[in-house]
Amino acid sequence: MKIIVHRGAEELGGNCVELRSGSSRILLDYGAPLPKIDQATGQGIEVTEAETILDIPGLYDKAPNPILALLISHTHYDHYGALLAKPLNPDIKVYMSELMEDVIRITTKMPRDGKKLPVGIHYFRRGHKFILGRFVITPYLMDHTAAESFAFLIESEGKRVLYTGHFREHGNKATAFKQFLAAKMGPIDALITEGVQAGLEKGPSEQDILAQVETKLKAHDGALFFLCAGQDLGLLAGLSQLAKNTRRYLVVDGYTALLLERVRAIAQKHGVELKLPGLDTEYLRIIRNAATQRVYQLSEYTETFSRMRDKLFGWDWVRANLDRLIIPVRANSQLWVKEQVNDLRGAALVYSAWESYTEEAGMLPTLDWFKGRGLLDVPAPLTGHAYFSTIRKLVENKRPRYIVPINTNEADKFAFTYGKRARLLKNGEEFFLD
Ligand SMILES: [Zn+2]
Repeated sequence: MKIIVHRGAEELGGNCVELRSGSSRILLDYGAPLPKIDQATGQGIEVTEAETILDIPGLYDKAPNPILALLISHTHYDHYGALLAKPLNPDIKVYMSELMEDVIRITTKMPRDGKKLPVGIHYFRRGHKFILGRFVITPYLMDHTAAESFAFLIESEGKRVLYTGHFREHGNKATAFKQFLAAKMGPIDALITEGVQAGLEKGPSEQDILAQVETKLKAHDGALFFLCAGQDLGLLAGLSQLAKNTRRYLVVDGYTALLLERVRAIAQKHGVELKLPGLDTEYLRIIRNAATQRVYQLSEYTETFSRMRDKLFGWDWVRANLDRLIIPVRANSQLWVKEQVNDLRGAALVYSAWESYTEEAGMLPTLDWFKGRGLLDVPAPLTGHAYFSTIRKLVENKRPRYIVPINTNEADKFAFTYGKRARLLKNGEEFFLD
């Protein structure tokens, strides 16, 4: 079996990993590169289509050995975004979970001119093996800040490659990581692991961090703005608990409310009861911003929107109740805050001191805007990625022959820790597993 990391070996996102076995070829993820930051302005520079698409034989044209399938690990743009940039060769089967497809479709419909996901997506399910050419694939649910995230075990020619996607063990789905460790996979030849936060040796759980924020802000009586990526449903569940404990309202918009409803409904269909806030949560309120308006316009969500009506509250209510609100904010939230809330005196801003906020476009300008408004500054050690102690735990548990770190600025740390077992690849370099 051969591994080629087309992109992501030397940068934090834009993943695309190819596996070859004989004439069988598959791709793991096809993400858009992360936006570059303009040093002068500190703003993100949009990535062009030419920078997004990769020149891989068979991806857009015919090739002697066709690409059988593209497997998406999770619903962050730097792992699926390039799939939207230009139609792929239609013979390539695109795989993700049913929930992932729903989340990506909703997200792509929010901008009026959003690029569409192709039709005919194939589904995988956690723990269910499936076959593609000479490969046998098993998806494992992982703990991460996307709506749903998977790792893949890929077996072929008696060799096994384990691709982690993005993961951690200290968040809302910590049980998933325990199950991942407990899963009997057989000897692993190569572990392709993310290392976005490998520079952090260890850190607290998200639950502990939120408990600290709660203690710190218990006496605070102003509005509480919390930087929370649109898809970070685990953090939203934590904020919902925080709202309950501090007798505040959790204020979301139509997009978040729709995501919560759909994700819960699809999980339920598969027999899983997710502990997420929803339209039946007493202290949840929905504001009438542009995202809510957009959901109202999308006829396919009419039924869900009709159930949102009781929870919709106007701006007068928001202004009158500011000091009783927890408001998750994400990319572009400053637009409606500026227009409708305006008075931020006494408000607090909680955000991650560790996250680079590049996985969702536009988060950094939003953080900058809020930081410039004189709110009580509450940086918290939140991150969606594995601490190095978690990666160590995974390596000790799976005992791979080789460790291939990707999405990391800490390649040296892997080399120092694992010596020759660490294979630091360049983008496009072929690694043959003998
Ligand atoms: Zn991610």
